[in-house]
Amino acid sequence: KAQPLEDDGAAVAERLGVRLTSPDRVVYPRQGITKSNLVAYYEAVAEVMLPHISDRPLSLVRCPQGRAKACFFQKHDTGGFPEQLKSVPVTEKDGETQEYFYIDDLAGLVAGTQMNVLEWHMWGSRRANVEKPDRLVFDLDPDEGLDFKAVVSAAEDMRDRLKDIGLETFPLVSGGKGIHVIVPLRPLAEWPAVKAFCKGMAQLLATEEPDRFTANLSKARRKGRLFIDYLRNERGSTAISPWSVRSREGAPVAVPVTWDEVKSLKSANGFSLDAAAARVGDDAWSGYFEVRQSLTKAILGKVPGG
Ligand code: ATP
Ligand code: MN
Ligand code: MN
Repeated sequence: KAQPLEDDGAAVAERLGVRLTSPDRVVYPRQGITKSNLVAYYEAVAEVMLPHISDRPLSLVRCPQGRAKACFFQKHDTGGFPEQLKSVPVTEKDGETQEYFYIDDLAGLVAGTQMNVLEWHMWGSRRANVEKPDRLVFDLDPDEGLDFKAVVSAAEDMRDRLKDIGLETFPLVSGGKGIHVIVPLRPLAEWPAVKAFCKGMAQLLATEEPDRFTANLSKARRKGRLFIDYLRNERGSTAISPWSVRSREGAPVAVPVTWDEVKSLKSANGFSLDAAAARVGDDAWSGYFEVRQSLTKAILGKVPGG
């Protein structure tokens, strides 16, 4: 069986002052991956993962009995969590204020692993500026039966359209079936304008090529098509964090890739913990944090509804 990493996750947790109970408990039975292995993985990727996930409201997929058994989304800090999983108050649509989790260090990732977090989902905005997203996600969701080539060509088309209007993008394989086309942004525009822009972009592609794409959530409209899920770009929506493991079969990781290598990938779930950790030095998203772009009036004007 593939053991992901040699490092001793229990020792990492102890050094960081996070209590890790039963480090040898297996959370991915087929792969024999333990809590300790996950901690070792997050230690390996922390330096590249934290700049993406830090200081954002989070939604956690927790699987107290390991993957595939009774996992649930935890949006709110209901108390009783390790202190390294930090708390930020966010006012929700209904006007009620709720405590969300955020992290800003490896100890947070370890504390989450202690709490059986198998997926880290994050808002598109940071806690200091929660109304203004600093990333967009075009979440490309193929219908059953569509092959991965259709996902790749959709991602490339989305990249080209965004490039045409002046926006640089970065591809993430989700660890599931699709690709997320990510657009880093300076946090200037607020959620409603950002969502309208994303909806406009999705509809633009769907209108031009209705046989390939739909921007409509309804299952019937998705038949044989790829759904351009722009709804990730809504206040309160989340997307998987780059470098997060998934709770799916195979323990796949959501991995940043280059536009060049996307062409030769066979699937969106091909990166194991080991394979992901081996890419830390590669900087597939070179320049991501130096990109200075925003949804200017000129850009919004090029997209219907945007
Ligand atoms: P795939 O490539 O297989 O589609 P994905 O991560 O894109 O993987 P989606 O089902 O498209 O998965 O979901 C997109 C995002 O929507 C998720 O990453 C997650 O952040 C959010 N999401 C999905 N289901 C829920 C849910 N029940 N509660 C909260 N957020 C959810
Ligand atoms: Mn998806
Ligand atoms: Mn989706």
